[in-house]
Amino acid sequence: MVAAERGWHLAWLLLGGLCLIPATLPLSSLPVLNDLLPALAHHVLPEKARYSPLGYWLLLTLVWQAQRRWPVVSGPFLSLALRQDMLWYFTTMGLRLLFLGAWAHAVVALYTHYLGFLTLPGVAHWHPAAQFVLGVLLADFTRWLSHLIRHKVPLFWAFHSVHHSQRDLNLFTDARVHPVDRMVSSLITSFALLITGNGVPAVILWMLIETLYPKFYHANIRVDLGPLRYLLVTPQSHRVHHGVEHRYHDCNFGFLFSVWDRLFGTQHPEHRIWPATGIPDTDFPVEREDGVIGLLKTLGRQLVYPFLSLRRRA
Ligand SMILES: [Zn+2]
Ligand SMILES: [Zn+2]
Repeated sequence: MVAAERGWHLAWLLLGGLCLIPATLPLSSLPVLNDLLPALAHHVLPEKARYSPLGYWLLLTLVWQAQRRWPVVSGPFLSLALRQDMLWYFTTMGLRLLFLGAWAHAVVALYTHYLGFLTLPGVAHWHPAAQFVLGVLLADFTRWLSHLIRHKVPLFWAFHSVHHSQRDLNLFTDARVHPVDRMVSSLITSFALLITGNGVPAVILWMLIETLYPKFYHANIRVDLGPLRYLLVTPQSHRVHHGVEHRYHDCNFGFLFSVWDRLFGTQHPEHRIWPATGIPDTDFPVEREDGVIGLLKTLGRQLVYPFLSLRRRA
């Protein structure tokens, strides 16, 4: 193990140790989460729930290790692509933690004022768990549909293509999503939850699911989940979706479940191929500069890319 790698492992273990400290704090003491808590605590969490990011850290560690053990593409431990996606991750994660609650409340207010008439009659009397399951199914379906639309409509593709630009898929690539792209998909799927009678807590819970599962299937892991692939999106099927060649462009749009692709004929039949990923646009600002400043400059260019791309086409 080289020195840089050893240093990284040490830092990672230290971070895990730090994650144990907040386990002693009550949820209500975390200022960032204050916005979410009244709603979450009332419906989902035990009254004196304690917060710890340890579970999340363990999940990241597992995926990280799986990525090192069963990689699709072997390469340097901390590739430039991975560092760039980590910057995307820390930037967007920070924004999400800060604004998740406010965004969820704004979406619910928007829906209540203008689209409340869409709420399915009768579901209000259902058990909250049944409402949530129905909401997740509908949200996942609308996510599939909106994903397909974001590929087909050039305006939306300009923003979504940033996510597809990664040539070196890794567990942080799920964070490489342009804020405009994320807002469009989040708005549509949140409405699906609200149509099925769910409220703010369910929307927040869904938004948290949105941050966890995609981390697994974007990772550089040679896994297709066996028979589970008929139900779930897998690292293999999502890699095909990211395939750079034209023949992979219109398949595997699923977010959690692969059933929509199978139902509507957009599932790629191969489950043993691991194509190269990326977008063919040579104008895309691929990461080439290292160091914090270099990575920040590239992040800025990648954020601006959709607007320049649209102007070029206009
Ligand atoms: Zn896509
Ligand atoms: Zn993806």
